[in-house]
Amino acid sequence: MISDGSFRLDGKLALVTGASRGIGYFLSKDLAARGAHVIAVARTVGGLEELDDEITAAGGSATLVPLDLTDMPAIDRLGGSIYERWGKLDILVANAGVLGTISPIGHVEAKVFDKVMNINVSSVWRLIRTTDPLLKLSDAGRAVLLSSGVAHTARAYWGPYAASKAAVEVMGRSWAEEARQTKLRVNSVNPGATRTAMRAQAVPGEDPETLPTAAEVAAKIALILDPKIDDTGKLYDVRAGKLLGYNDPS
Ligand code: NDP
Repeated sequence: MISDGSFRLDGKLALVTGASRGIGYFLSKDLAARGAHVIAVARTVGGLEELDDEITAAGGSATLVPLDLTDMPAIDRLGGSIYERWGKLDILVANAGVLGTISPIGHVEAKVFDKVMNINVSSVWRLIRTTDPLLKLSDAGRAVLLSSGVAHTARAYWGPYAASKAAVEVMGRSWAEEARQTKLRVNSVNPGATRTAMRAQAVPGEDPETLPTAAEVAAKIALILDPKIDDTGKLYDVRAGKLLGYNDPS
């Protein structure tokens, strides 16, 4: 089931990584407009400040956390800080990600492979580890992990990125199973090609006007953060507008 979009998130606390631009920026704005207080994480302070200005102007509120997600001990500290200040977390959006280089798998530099895995997989695991107890303190904890179509459909030259997104989805499914008896619900999202900096890096010759904007895609992702949605361990295909079970025909 997908929400009709009419839900509010007043009193809810949402942590969004990669909030300085692209999908994470607009998803942060959407959640704040619904009444959630947003903890916005990224490295680029300018992007976070712009987000804060927009959220505040619209009557919402945010806390900015300039953080490099390769700093694993800093991620570990995040959970404790959130607990001390708010005592729980309602929504986790693990959105930050990097593409690495588009090149034959045998030509990928080790440092690029390690960076992709570090940011796209290890940092998500550290986020899960530090926020899991807080999300379980919520009366309707919700986590979404950003994946990609290449986790399922093989595409030449996207090897490390594709592997990282497949890993994130499987990790999310394991987490969802462990949490089934709790109020925490965990799903992955395939946003589909979206007009962002990452997409421009991945497919430089493409006309961005042919792609949905980050704002449009973020508005659709927000629909699975309706506290009434009970699905877990699924993949939300934004283009199809459906939450797919892993054994469902797509
Ligand atoms: P962008 O490149 O536009 O934004 C990526 C975000 O991740 C930025 O806010 C960036 O912030 C943050 N980020 C990157 N590295 C780090 C780091 N080391 N520490 C903290 N934050 C970091 O990407 P998109 O909006 O396009 O993508 C969002 C998600 O959606 C990603 O997980 C991506 O894989 C996925 N996706 C995107 C698709 C698309 O077509 N755009 C298609 C399929 C999946 P900063 O640089 O300020 O740190």
